[in-house]
Amino acid sequence: MDADILIIGSGMGGATLAAALAPTGRRILIVERGERLADSPEARDPVAIFQRGHYKPNETWRDISGAALHPGNYAYVGGNTKFYGAVLLRYRAEDFAPLRHIEGTTPGWPVSYAELEPFYSQAETLYRVRGDAAQDRTEPPHSTPYPFAPVPDEADIFTLRAAFTAQGLHVAALPLGVDLDRWLARAPTTWDAFPDTTGAKSDAENCGLAAALKHPNVTLLTGTKVTRLIAEGRRITGVEVDRAGRHETLTATTVVLAAGAILSSALLLASANADHPTGLANGSDQVGRNFMNHNLTGMVAWNPFRRNRTVYEKTIQINDFYLTGGPDGEPLGNIQMLGRITGPILAGEAGLPLWLARHIADHSIHIMAMSEDLPDPNSRVLWQNGEVVLDWRRTNTRAHDLLVGRLKQAMRRAGWPITLARGFPKSKPSHQCGTNRMGADAGTSVVDPNLKAHDLDNLYIADASVLPTSAAVNPSLTVAALALRLGQHLSAT
Ligand SMILES: Cc1cc2nc3c(=O)[nH]c(=O)nc-3n(C[C@H](O)[C@H](O)[C@H](O)COP(=O)(O)OP(=O)(O)OC[C@H]3O[C@@H](n4cnc5c(N)ncnc54)[C@H](O)[C@@H]3O)c2cc1C
Repeated sequence: MDADILIIGSGMGGATLAAALAPTGRRILIVERGERLADSPEARDPVAIFQRGHYKPNETWRDISGAALHPGNYAYVGGNTKFYGAVLLRYRAEDFAPLRHIEGTTPGWPVSYAELEPFYSQAETLYRVRGDAAQDRTEPPHSTPYPFAPVPDEADIFTLRAAFTAQGLHVAALPLGVDLDRWLARAPTTWDAFPDTTGAKSDAENCGLAAALKHPNVTLLTGTKVTRLIAEGRRITGVEVDRAGRHETLTATTVVLAAGAILSSALLLASANADHPTGLANGSDQVGRNFMNHNLTGMVAWNPFRRNRTVYEKTIQINDFYLTGGPDGEPLGNIQMLGRITGPILAGEAGLPLWLARHIADHSIHIMAMSEDLPDPNSRVLWQNGEVVLDWRRTNTRAHDLLVGRLKQAMRRAGWPITLARGFPKSKPSHQCGTNRMGADAGTSVVDPNLKAHDLDNLYIADASVLPTSAAVNPSLTVAALALRLGQHLSAT
């Protein structure tokens, strides 16, 4: 055996699980297709990142029409968290029970908020979250306070906060995993979508993996892509990898898949065999289904007569419409700062000439509306002809449109009258989740509440694919909390 526990993927789920398991002394092997992300001038160059796609993997997926998709889905040690906005929010307590939305009711979770709460607290400690739970009326109970005070608002955000408050809105600090001084010491940019190369972001590499690798029983294999899982009956007996063109088969007593929602499902589907003809762990036919990513709209709220002097911008959120606001009191979602959009970023994202993009970016505020999307079995990841196919169907869009309307109104009242809003494109599956969902019923879910595959006795899943609902908050802290809970479960077995 190469390991007691082999973890596929070193992102939020995989790295956090490794941190939880490391003290057990078991031999943990983390297999990661990417390499460590080294510092270089591109790390803070918006032209390289937003116009040239410097860090995007050389990978092509297809949409359902067959058109090529070059996804913003990153392949480095630490996974997508290397680029994340480091917003580390808990799901609200209400998200764990069925919630009635405008276009349907969520299924609820097989795990309650109270059960997950201690792991949220541990995750906030591991990921050094900065926040103030008392500022947010929708924040669920915390057994421990955030380990650090919130990241400070810049002057223009302080003014915006006051303008929202004057409208009767309740503004709260965004819980963030970023060491501001350390981040800004490298270059004066925001952090969302910029890779961390200095240890300033609380990402999976700097926190989960760093904690795990302090233990001699934990090994990280980089540049090693898992191509197939070999199953015999109800057990995974081998993990086929491609290491710099060399094919090997690794073995472990327990295998944990944490390759990210889309690629974990794709790997299970690609590993079909005679015993599992529609893919591994797919007796329920749910692998790859229920793809969710949130309904996300970025907004540039412009006033040609005002200036935005911020550098990072991303410090506040509004949850007044999180649980209500629809025509019959249905939830609409979360509002949070997007992160400072500069001329080169806007030019890259909107295809504007740089001079115009610079003018708009410097005379506008940048904010985001995020609404829950619902699990739809027809919104799915497929594996066809050796390629990932993403048949992404949006749901619950009416709630999102209403939220965007509320946000436009709030921005106008705050003195930013011209609002330009655009939905995030399908090439950015940044909040991907749901495709191997957790449930107590083996007929309608892929993994059980302990995250073990219903159909296999030594396969677990620890990434965002297991989330049965997307809620309307950023997913990472919940992925981390579930991984810590799985760590406790595996430690006891
Ligand atoms: C620009 C951006 C901003 C974001 N901002 C936020 C935010 O502010 N807050 C938040 O909560 N979330 C944010 N997210 C989402 C967050 O990054 C993900 O929810 C989180 O990383 C999911 O964790 P995961 O373990 O499921 O997958 P990942 O963290 O993506 O990890 C998957 C890992 O598996 C590896 N892998 C994949 N296939 C294989 C294979 N075949 N063999 C070996 N290794 C493999 C990948 O390289 C990767 O390292 C953002 C994402 C992006 C892209």
